[in-house]
Amino acid sequence: MPITSPRLNSFSESVIRGMTRLSNQHNAINLAQGFPDFDPPSELLSALHRATDGPFHQYAMTWGAPRFRAALANKITRFTGVPVDPAQHLVVTCGGTEAMMVAMMTACSPGDEVIIFTPFYENYVADAILSGAIPLFVRMQSPQFHYDIAELRLAFARRPKAIILCNPSNPCGKVFTRVELLEILALAEECDTFVITDEVYEHIVYTPFRHTTFCSLPGAWDRTITCSSLSKTYSITGWRLGYVLAPSAIIQQARKVHDYLTIGASAPLQEAAVTGLEFPDSYYHDLLKSYTSKRDVFLSYLKKLGLPYSEPQGAYFVLVDISSLGFANDTLAAEYLVRDIGVAGVPGSSFFQDPMNSLVRFHFAKQETTLHEAGQRLLKLRE
Ligand code: GLN
Repeated sequence: MPITSPRLNSFSESVIRGMTRLSNQHNAINLAQGFPDFDPPSELLSALHRATDGPFHQYAMTWGAPRFRAALANKITRFTGVPVDPAQHLVVTCGGTEAMMVAMMTACSPGDEVIIFTPFYENYVADAILSGAIPLFVRMQSPQFHYDIAELRLAFARRPKAIILCNPSNPCGKVFTRVELLEILALAEECDTFVITDEVYEHIVYTPFRHTTFCSLPGAWDRTITCSSLSKTYSITGWRLGYVLAPSAIIQQARKVHDYLTIGASAPLQEAAVTGLEFPDSYYHDLLKSYTSKRDVFLSYLKKLGLPYSEPQGAYFVLVDISSLGFANDTLAAEYLVRDIGVAGVPGSSFFQDPMNSLVRFHFAKQETTLHEAGQRLLKLRE
């Protein structure tokens, strides 16, 4: 048998998705892979019914259906103030996952270096390797997940092609301050580096923290490739709708990558999602209120349990320190949790470059009844 590409030996299968399979096998509550167990807004479901009855069953335009792009451009400008031309600045992708791959393949050539903050969302390392790039890791230190500017400067001194910035951050919940973002921008300008952002949790930012879209910073537009998605904002992770936002010269190249990777995102789902993009501000207010309450419910159980954790500033994940439970490593702890406690989390080591065996990541994008049930199960750990 011929040998498959050696490139694929330098990363493993997704641990997050693996934990979902294990969770299903043991009928556990899946707080591993971040997705809701509640329905999207009913207006979106009605729009989906209308779309499936309509003429939307063949390929949409490769870089996104015009109606979807127009609504998306409006929505982005409404929230960020960034002027977006739907004809020039957007490529609609199959989820944020494809958006990130498109951004990486658009920016990087084989051998280029890319800064990745650790802890990181596990896709980034695979994205880098698949696009031929070499990750350069820069640490963020718990509990606040600040980076050390000297370490970041050292990484930039290698003149990396890009830096990946997940804001709000999965898995640690950090929301980068404007001062930090400006500091990163200054370094990126000095070293002529692309800033590839993953902002899929942009609408889940807890008071008093505030999300700043990187491309809105003065001077940032020309080097920023913004990736985001509708998955988390409208609770439609299965619809696979994401996008890349960038200046037109970058988008012209990104369109080619996207075209040859997937041709396009689903036509009926783009049509239906326009309804979400046109939701009033109150929708986003209620979304945040609901996630704030979910966060408080889940964290209240962690407090009762006495396990240390870092309070998320944004997104819907929490890294919990399980070292007091006495397991040899986080994978064994996570397996025990699924099998014997009935709650799935993700071993923290899959988000870190340095060996880090004492954390498990849980997400709380679940109905509060589910979170109470998961919390009760976790309390059994006290026995
Ligand atoms: N971003 C979510 C997480 O980190 C979902 C990941 C996925 O499997 N697409 O859990």
